[in-house]
This record gives sequence, C-alpha cells and structure tokens, in this order.
Amino acid sequence: MTDVMHNFELFQPATLEDARAILGDHQDAWILAGGMDSLDWFKHRVKMPAVVVDIAGIPDLHGIREEDDGGLWIGATTTLTEVNESELVKSRFPALAQAALHVASPQIRNKGTIGGNVSQDTRCPYYRDGFPCYRAGGNTCYANTPTAMNREHALFGVSRCVAVTPSDTAIALTALEAVFTVERAGSRQDILASDFFIGPAIDITRMTALEPGDILVGIRIPGKWAGSRQYFEKVADRQTWDFALVNIAMAAKMENGAISDISMVCGAVECTPRRLTDVESLVRGEKPGQELETLVKRVASRGAEPLNFNHFKIPLMENLAVRAIRSLA
Ligand SMILES: Cc1cc2nc3c(=O)[nH]c(=O)nc-3n(C[C@H](O)[C@H](O)[C@H](O)COP(=O)(O)OP(=O)(O)OC[C@H]3O[C@@H](n4cnc5c(N)ncnc54)[C@H](O)[C@@H]3O)c2cc1C
Ligand code: SF4
Repeated sequence: MTDVMHNFELFQPATLEDARAILGDHQDAWILAGGMDSLDWFKHRVKMPAVVVDIAGIPDLHGIREEDDGGLWIGATTTLTEVNESELVKSRFPALAQAALHVASPQIRNKGTIGGNVSQDTRCPYYRDGFPCYRAGGNTCYANTPTAMNREHALFGVSRCVAVTPSDTAIALTALEAVFTVERAGSRQDILASDFFIGPAIDITRMTALEPGDILVGIRIPGKWAGSRQYFEKVADRQTWDFALVNIAMAAKMENGAISDISMVCGAVECTPRRLTDVESLVRGEKPGQELETLVKRVASRGAEPLNFNHFKIPLMENLAVRAIRSLA
C-alpha cells in the first residue's frame, strides 16, 4: 500500500475566514501546509483523514515582519528556506536561521513551513509504522522494551511514551522564548513556547497544544534576545536529510566578559524541547572558560534516565552544552 494515498476531499481556502468555516464544518479535518510530514502519513496509510484543508495559499499566514519591540512575527506558512534566508532573522535571531538551515534537505526546506515544522508528529518508527502503541491508543510502548530500537528516544520526561521532539526550529524558538498565536473557535490565543510543546503526561496523542480545528497563525519572537549571542548545533547520523540525535540552541547576553543572561535548550532528549535550567543557573554571572566548562559538563545531563541503546546521548548532550558556552569565550 505504501506510496498510494487514500481518497480524501481537498479544500484549498484562499482566506483565513474560509479555512475557519471549513474546519468548523469538518471536525476531523487535517490541516496541510507544506505536506512534508503529512504526505508521509497518508502514503503509509497510517493516518487517513477524509477531509484535508490546504492552508498554503492563505496570504495572512505567510511572511516575516518586524515588531515594535525589536522582535519578529513569522507567519505559519513561511517556508523554512524563507526563514533561513531572511536578513531580519539572520541578523536578529541567527539561532533560528541556523536551525531552519539544518532541517532535512533543500527540497524539503523549500516546501516545508515553519508552522508544519513545529507541529509535526514524532518520528518514533514503531508509531509511524502503525504499531498500536500507547500514543496510537494501544496499551504498550514498543520502543521501551529490552530489545527495542530506541537509540533515538528520550532521556527525560518519560511517561509511557519515550518518543522525542523531532523539530529543529522548536529548539531555537523555545530558547528565544517565542510565542505561538493559535486561532481556536474564532478567537486568538497566545501560547508560550514552554506551554506549546506538550509531553505525554499531558496528552499522549499530541506533541503540541494544538487541538483538532486549531490553526497556528504565526510565531512571535519577542525582542528580548534580538541581537544577543546565539548558538545552534545539531548532531545527526548524516549531515543532511536526517533528524537530530541531539541538538542545542542558546541565546546569551554578556556584560564585562561575563554571562549576564542565558537561555539554553536541548532537543531530541525529551518529548518537548528541554530547557537546561541547571546550566543556565550555573553560568549566570560567570566568565566562560575551562573551569566553567567542566562544571557545565557535570550538570547538563543531570537526571537523565537512558534506555538500552541511547546512553550515547548523555555525553553528546554534555559536550554540546560545553561547546555552546565555549562559543561565548
Ligand atoms: C526525509 C525527511 C527528513 C526530515 N528531516 C527533518 C529534520 O532534519 N528536522 C526537522 O525539524 N524536520 C525534518 N523533517 C520533518 C518535516 O517534514 C519538515 O520539518 C517540515 O517542516 C514540515 O512542514 P510542512 O509544512 O511540510 O508540514 P505539513 O506536513 O504540512 O504539516 C505537519 C503537521 O503540522 C500540522 N500543521 C501544519 N501547519 C499547521 C498550522 N498552521 N496550524 C495547525 N497545524 C498545522 C499538520 O496538520 C500536520 O499534522 C523531515 C521530513 C522528511 C520527509
Ligand atoms: S515511544 Fe511513544 S510513539 Fe514510540 S512506540 Fe512507544 S508509545 Fe509509541
């Protein structure tokens, strides 16, 4: 059956108002943006929605503009290439530009949107192959058994499901304390990044706060970290076309050679982007250097509970935290 999609009714609204009306009429409709995650699901026939609403042609959801506080607003259907190539993003939030650049391949970045990137589902191979696990409504986790393939899975925050967040831009946006604007039942809500990405203990069937029928309209990055020192690094099995084994994003402010403020986030170690608050508290007020790096290495992975085949993520995470701090020296 692979590569043969099921039949569905496709709507291509040209306005947000029309999209809202269609979604109101079809409670189980699937939102399609660039389709780079969705079409995989459809081709494998693991998800077969009867109605698909393609939002890529709605002008209000697209583009990058400056905000009064020095921040930026990025429409949900802005492509990853547009994010990566934007001078505004590169000059103010280079960590996000780098994260967008490190997603998948040029073809996928040309089509894939930032809204789709942060809303995409997990890459756990059991779940994506249609195994009836907890996340799919079943009563077991196939990735958390002694012989399971779990080298890509979580070190933290496990609650039945051990899948991790797959999105590269989510890590940078969380470090930059972005706010997600969601249209729900006719009204708009602003959701902080720390609340937008949700773990299995909150709802095992979703990776984000988006509920059926919700439209992610755009993402606002406040001016707080604009122009600060920023860092993004991703380690994957391949340099391109691959998801992170661990990635890291950091924004920091320096005063007289010392770190005055910092936000550091790791991805692919938990179901949600993991803010490294222990590292942040440790380094605030300190000068980067060998001594600080040794301490950072000690605390970065504190609390990690590895599975059978993902122990390697612990030193990876520690070394990425050290390299981020070293970039400030
Ligand atoms: C080979 C391959 C490699 C990849 N590698 C990476 C990688 O390295 N890093 C990475 O981060 N990702 C990767 N991806 C995942 C993903 O396809 C892309 O990141 C892409 O950005 C998804 O965006 P899209 O617009 O195509 O999403 P779509 O497939 O259109 O949507 C994805 C999900 O988000 C929902 N959605 C989309 N937009 C909205 C909206 N505005 N409001 C509400 N819901 C919405 C859809 O309903 C769907 O559930 C890869 C994908 C492939 C196929
Ligand atoms: S890790 Fe989560 S998604 Fe994967 S098999 Fe276990 S419950 Fe399912």
